[in-house]
Amino acid sequence: MNRNDLPTIVLVGRTNVGKSTLFNRLLERPAALVSAVPGTTRDRKEGECVWRGKMIRVVDTGGLDMELTDEIERNVVKQAERAIETADAILFVVDLDVGPLPQDRTLATKLTKAKKPVIVVGNKAETPSLIASVHNKEWRLSGLPSPIAVSAVRGTGTGDLLDAIFEALAETGKQPESIEAPEAIRVAVIGKPNVGKSSLLNAILGEERFITSPIAHTTREPNDVLVTLPDGREFVLIDTAGIRKFAKIKKTGGLEAAGVARTKRILDQTDVALFVVDVSEPMGSQDRTLAGLLQAAHVGVIVVANKWDLIPSKSPSTMNDFRRSFVAEFPFFTWAPLTFVSALTGQRVPDLFELIGTVQGRRKIHIPEEELETFWRSAVKSHLPTKGKGPQPPKVLGMTQVATEPPTFQLTVKVKRTDALAPSWLRYLENRMRERFELEGTPIVINVHKAQAGA
Ligand code: GDP
Repeated sequence: MNRNDLPTIVLVGRTNVGKSTLFNRLLERPAALVSAVPGTTRDRKEGECVWRGKMIRVVDTGGLDMELTDEIERNVVKQAERAIETADAILFVVDLDVGPLPQDRTLATKLTKAKKPVIVVGNKAETPSLIASVHNKEWRLSGLPSPIAVSAVRGTGTGDLLDAIFEALAETGKQPESIEAPEAIRVAVIGKPNVGKSSLLNAILGEERFITSPIAHTTREPNDVLVTLPDGREFVLIDTAGIRKFAKIKKTGGLEAAGVARTKRILDQTDVALFVVDVSEPMGSQDRTLAGLLQAAHVGVIVVANKWDLIPSKSPSTMNDFRRSFVAEFPFFTWAPLTFVSALTGQRVPDLFELIGTVQGRRKIHIPEEELETFWRSAVKSHLPTKGKGPQPPKVLGMTQVATEPPTFQLTVKVKRTDALAPSWLRYLENRMRERFELEGTPIVINVHKAQAGA
């Protein structure tokens, strides 16, 4: 991450309003080096502030330690100018306890000229009446918004303030950096015996463009292999050695209990599963068992139709025909991308990683609230919920996303005690969601929350 690209917020305000304390609070530093003597902090300071997994830079322009009043005035203006120059958003700190002073007004006037978002912070809000005072007319400085009440010393109100900061930054188009390191995507290769899992792993591990290494630093998962692509992206192939060994000893038998348990254990740690099937053979009961496990595990799924080289005469419709019969067999995987590879010749094997990356991105999708609202309203409008059990169709009250990986939604419906939503309507809703949003490769979960009628 290039730290110079971080969105920057700058603290401005006259001396002794509590900028340094707030600065330390935002950086989660101990409030050392702050004293009640005006102008104790002179230097411009900066640091990184992390909130909800995102990072921004915070700059404190420092106190104004000038003896002459007109000098102070001049410096306030200078300070404001400098802030306006470097800031993506400005935190204008005022002291609720003291009330607005002429310098606050000078600063406010100056700041309104900036074409930058200004957030007014009402510090020292330590009593209910001080908290309420942010709504007083006197605090509408030069038409700036009312202050957000905080106590930098106690830390109260800083969460709301940070939310406001991130909102303001979002509007400027300057996105805060996500500090979550892009983690290696955990990939499992799943398939019944003899479909070519072991061969597929060999094809991947033998691919010269990839750097592969056993994950040595963990004794818990000694069979995992780290695959690094030329562009640095990392993937973990889960239990590679186990898959090979298992493939060897299980050529003839079915998927007995041990195989099912093993698959479940692997899927528990999986982000994206490669569901390997043999394109040269019809699907069988073992494929169905595995498909059921994949579905229950809520992992991302890519169907890898292996042994493509065995299909003798390929016409443009061969892929489509297979796709159609596969979807007829496994209707719940209509959302899974299907790719035709040959572990033997290596055809399309390297492309799998691009697809895995895409699917992982979709598992992490977060749909903005307003988009979700527009979506469910129009879905309800074009097809009213049908009733399941019970006398009346439920009324949809709202839909929110409550989790990612996989995207999980809560649908709130108003029902009489015995009413229920028809499962077919939920399927309709899921299909509409998939048309509207990019969700290929990821399962989605829609939980129904019943709000009792009249409640
Ligand atoms: P696993 O049990 O799923 O690990 O399957 P293996 O990787 O051991 O492969 C089973 C058999 O299928 C072996 O004889 C492989 O050589 C063969 N095989 C695997 N992938 C392909 C492929 O893409 N094309 C062809 N023609 N044969 C393959």
